[in-house]
Amino acid sequence: MLVPQALQPAWEQRPEKRQVHGTRAVHIAEALQPAGDADAFYTSASGIPVSVITADCVPLLMARRDGAMVAALHAGWRGLYAGIIGRFWEALREQGERPSEWVAAIGPTICAPCYEVSEELAQDFMRHYAALPAHAVVPSHRHLDLRAVAQYELERAGLAAFEHVGGCTCCARNADGTHTFRSYRRGDRNSQQHAGLLRL
Ligand SMILES: [Zn+2]
Repeated sequence: MLVPQALQPAWEQRPEKRQVHGTRAVHIAEALQPAGDADAFYTSASGIPVSVITADCVPLLMARRDGAMVAALHAGWRGLYAGIIGRFWEALREQGERPSEWVAAIGPTICAPCYEVSEELAQDFMRHYAALPAHAVVPSHRHLDLRAVAQYELERAGLAAFEHVGGCTCCARNADGTHTFRSYRRGDRNSQQHAGLLRL
């Protein structure tokens, strides 16, 4: 679910929560709980949404099939490279969660043709994801496919199913020609991002 900035709930504007392209995950147990610097949030508390703000990075919304727990992850290239998805599942497995009982939505993310990166970063990613074909990670010269990397991480974590939702934040357009999503790469800044949220 995407909510325009103007409709963003108050908890998104609270300074006690800051996404920092890291891998820290926070268990949310109560409403308006300060989360500090973190990029992954999960809860089993009914009525408390977990959410992430993105504009090009990968928003991941995950839910246990029985509806007893939900999670939201913000995964840009830094977070993916640092292993946010794998670390998140490592932590949840330790708490007894089984990824095979979960499903995920990979939300609107910048597409590879729109996402040009440095030669060095492209090479780093190909090395880091050597288990994947190089053209899956970097489909064309210096263009990184964040969705493919996120999908690979979800498969590796063992999730039961996932779906790509929405298109490219940078180039997807509506029928009237206007851009569908906000994009940092295209020039939208911090005040112009999406909220992806989920609650029990
Ligand atoms: Zn695009």
